[in-house]
Amino acid sequence: MNKDIATPVRTRAILEKYGFSFKKSLGQNFLIDTNILKKIVEFANITEDTGTIEIGPGIGALTEQLARSSNKVVAFEIDQRLLPILKDTLDPYSNVKVIHQDVLKADVKEVIKDEFQTIDDLMVVANLPYYVTTPIIMKILEEHLPIRGIVVMLQKEVADRISASPGTKDYGSLSIAVQYYTEAETVMIVPKTVFVPQPNVDSAVIRLTRRTTPAVTVKDEGFFFQVTRASFAQRRKTLLNNLTSQLPDGKQKKEQILEALGGCGVDPTRRGETLSLEEFGRLSDALYPYFK
Ligand code: SAM
Repeated sequence: MNKDIATPVRTRAILEKYGFSFKKSLGQNFLIDTNILKKIVEFANITEDTGTIEIGPGIGALTEQLARSSNKVVAFEIDQRLLPILKDTLDPYSNVKVIHQDVLKADVKEVIKDEFQTIDDLMVVANLPYYVTTPIIMKILEEHLPIRGIVVMLQKEVADRISASPGTKDYGSLSIAVQYYTEAETVMIVPKTVFVPQPNVDSAVIRLTRRTTPAVTVKDEGFFFQVTRASFAQRRKTLLNNLTSQLPDGKQKKEQILEALGGCGVDPTRRGETLSLEEFGRLSDALYPYFK
């Protein structure tokens, strides 16, 4: 077996060989602990039949572990300076393809069609760049990619918000958006010491398992998300206040909003953070006829 990339000594040697300097603006915090990487791969339940999509391979620390377990790995990397390094470090693995692209601009569906033609089991696995964690996760979910799930390292604070339950301070439109599409669990808390350079915040690994059908069935998905975002616009305001101030022509439609709230049995003086996904589903369906 080849020497692991993710040890402090090997990582330093690679960085020195190429004179690589970290770009904070690209969220470059590389993992230097092989045990953590192996656990991430285990949490993703990757087998030799799994196709893996990675975002931000860096110098290949996680990519290497994924390549050893998966059928094939396709990794999106934005930073051109890392390409020659990856070519070198991942040379022993013939089942890895690195695509030089901003994942937010990539047509991931098309890449899946081209690169994973014979593979049914697909996972997204990454140590995400923290400056774009939420847009990346939402892009993957909203594009309805044919994946089993997502296992990613991110800021603990974002992991807390994603897996939060109703009635807690972390519960908000992000919890709802992610839990609508997936079952979300925080599977590991990770100390700062396993990265170079060390990030300023604590980290966690979350596992998002895609639901076969969304958590609630609604008339209009876009409107459902509009209602949830509106309901959390100002956390201390009541549902009625947020909906009237945030929905289009909400102030003129106050009576209709009250009627919809009454119709689905939700007290207008409640706050958004107390509503379950099912209640938001009922509320958005009740409001929909007045706003479509
Ligand atoms: N996977 C490596 C590891 O665990 O050591 C590096 C992880 S580092 C937190 C994030 C990586 O994502 C960096 O390599 C960075 O250049 C890359 N990156 C940042 N923004 C990106 C984007 N929009 N699309 C693709 N890659 C991106």
